Amino acid sequence: MIVVLGSASMDLTTYVAVAPALGETVMGREFRTVPGGKGANQAIAAARAGGSVAMIGAVGDDSFGEPVRRTLAESGVDVAGLRTVPGPTGTAHIVVDDDGGNSIVVVPSANATITGTEEGDAERIAAADFLLLQLEAPMAAAIAGAEVARANGTKVVLTPAPTQDLPDALLSNVDIIVPNEHEARALSGVDDLDKTIEWLLDRVPVAVVTLGEQGCLYAARGEEQVRVPAFAVTAVDTTAAGDTFVGALAVALGEAKPVVEALTWASAAAALAVQRPGASSSMPERAEIEALVA
Ligand code: ATP
Repeated sequence: MIVVLGSASMDLTTYVAVAPALGETVMGREFRTVPGGKGANQAIAAARAGGSVAMIGAVGDDSFGEPVRRTLAESGVDVAGLRTVPGPTGTAHIVVDDDGGNSIVVVPSANATITGTEEGDAERIAAADFLLLQLEAPMAAAIAGAEVARANGTKVVLTPAPTQDLPDALLSNVDIIVPNEHEARALSGVDDLDKTIEWLLDRVPVAVVTLGEQGCLYAARGEEQVRVPAFAVTAVDTTAAGDTFVGALAVALGEAKPVVEALTWASAAAALAVQRPGASSSMPERAEIEALVA
C-alpha cells in the first residue's frame, strides 16, 4: 500500500503563446480548472498505475473541495484521510506556454492545516509500504509522517518541491529523494551534477534526479549510477510530469520491479502525462504504461 501525505488543490491553468514577464499583460488562449496539488497528483498517478493508495490531506469547504475529492476517489484513491476544513481549497495558478513549459504560484489554503497527526493518520502510514511526501504541506506534517514511517518500516519517498531548506529531522528519515535537476542543485548549492548527487547521497541512501526530456539518473550509496533516457515524445504540457514519475515509481518498486525496469516504468508514465494537458487529467492508466514499455 502507498500513502501520500500532501497537498490536494485546484489547478487554475491558463494556456498562452508566451508567458508574461513581470509587469506585462498578455492575452491567454484557454483557461481550465483541473484538480492537482503535488500530493493529489502523486496519489492519482500511483492509483492509475495500479497501486493501492490512500491520501492524507485537506481540502476546503468551498466549491473546489468536492471536485478535488471526487477526482481522487474516482481514480481509486482512498480519501478517508482527506479532511474537509472551513475556508478555501488550495490553489495553483499555472501558466503554460506554447513550448509546454510552465510557471506556477501555489496558495496553500486548506493544505496549510495538514498535520499528519489526525486520527487514523499514523495507522495509515504504519500499514503502508511507501509514504510519499512533497513540500506543499507544512514541514511539521512531513516530519511527523516520516517519523511514523521510519518507526514502522514504511519507506519514505520525498519530492523536495517547492524547494526549501530540508531539516535533518526530515532528511534523516527519507529513504529515496526524487528532485528534478533544478531542485537538486538548489538543495546542494552546487552546480555540478556529480557533486550534487554526492551531496544528496551524504544525506539520503537513494537519489533519483529527474532531468526532464533528458530522462533520469538513479544513484544509491555504494552502487553504480544508472541513467535511464526519457521516451521520445512531443510534450504539450509538462505539469505534473515529476509527480506522475514518482507515483508510478512507487508502484513499480512496491511490485519489486528491478531498478532499471522501475525507472523505465516511471518514465513511461511521465512521458504519457506530458503529451496531455493538465495535472490529474494527464495521468495514464496502467494499461497505457504497460503498452508503452512493452
Ligand atoms: P514538473 O515540475 O513539470 O512536474 P519536474 O520538473 O518535477 O516536472 P522533470 O524532470 O521535468 O520533472 O520530468 C520528470 C520525468 O518526466 C523525466 O525524468 C522524464 O522521464 C519525464 N519527462 C519530462 N519531460 C519530458 C519530455 N519532454 N518528454 C518525455 N519525457 C519527459
